[in-house]
Amino acid sequence: MVLQRVFRAVIMGPPGSGKGTVSGRIIKTFGLTHISSGDILRNNINAKTELGLLMKACIDQGQLLPDDVMARLILNDLRTLGNTSWLLDGFPRTILQAEALDNAYSVDSRLSSRWTHTASGRVYNIDFNPPKVPGLDDVTGEPLVQRDDDTPHTVTRRLKAYENQTEPVLEYYRSKGVLETFSGTETNQIWPHIESFLHRKLSIHSKKVA
Ligand code: ATP
Ligand code: MG
Repeated sequence: MVLQRVFRAVIMGPPGSGKGTVSGRIIKTFGLTHISSGDILRNNINAKTELGLLMKACIDQGQLLPDDVMARLILNDLRTLGNTSWLLDGFPRTILQAEALDNAYSVDSRLSSRWTHTASGRVYNIDFNPPKVPGLDDVTGEPLVQRDDDTPHTVTRRLKAYENQTEPVLEYYRSKGVLETFSGTETNQIWPHIESFLHRKLSIHSKKVA
């Protein structure tokens, strides 16, 4: 008999990198529960909850919300899931958040994405092929992603927040030996690699606890 233990993973990547699309495919293919911090916050804003009203200005300016607020919000959500396999998207975003998560759960895998968003048909990569102005299409000057918090100014802030606050989290996970990085220029090119990695990972994972 194969005992299926829960599988817990974190997906990371710069704003507009296609994380949302890949997360969707992962949860559909592997049946993990998707926890997206951005979606939870946007739901709070739409429902005009106290948290949503309090945090909207901060989000619209492209700033990260306080670590203690985020940690409480996400860890509470994870607690209600109990013994379910999950994929965390958008959290942790800072070393402090990563430590808060580690104190509560042992995470099995961190997937880092560096593939790029192609809404305009053009391809950028923050590391080796960045747009001339961060977050803006080179030709039209338009933002690369379209959302309430996607004004050029805010996109720049979010990309800076990723570089300054979230990239150190990648190093944190790399030093723990649990980081898996996928690079490429579009989601369809990267997806097969992620899929076969997770197939391998999940089958080893269930054999180990069989
Ligand atoms: P994309 O989803 O397109 O990759 P993104 O990652 O910049 O873009 P979200 O994850 O949707 O955006 O988050 C939107 C905003 O919500 C962030 O800019 C930030 O203000 C806030 N936020 C989301 N998650 C966190 C977090 N873990 N810590 C602090 N702030 C957060
Ligand atoms: Mg997101």
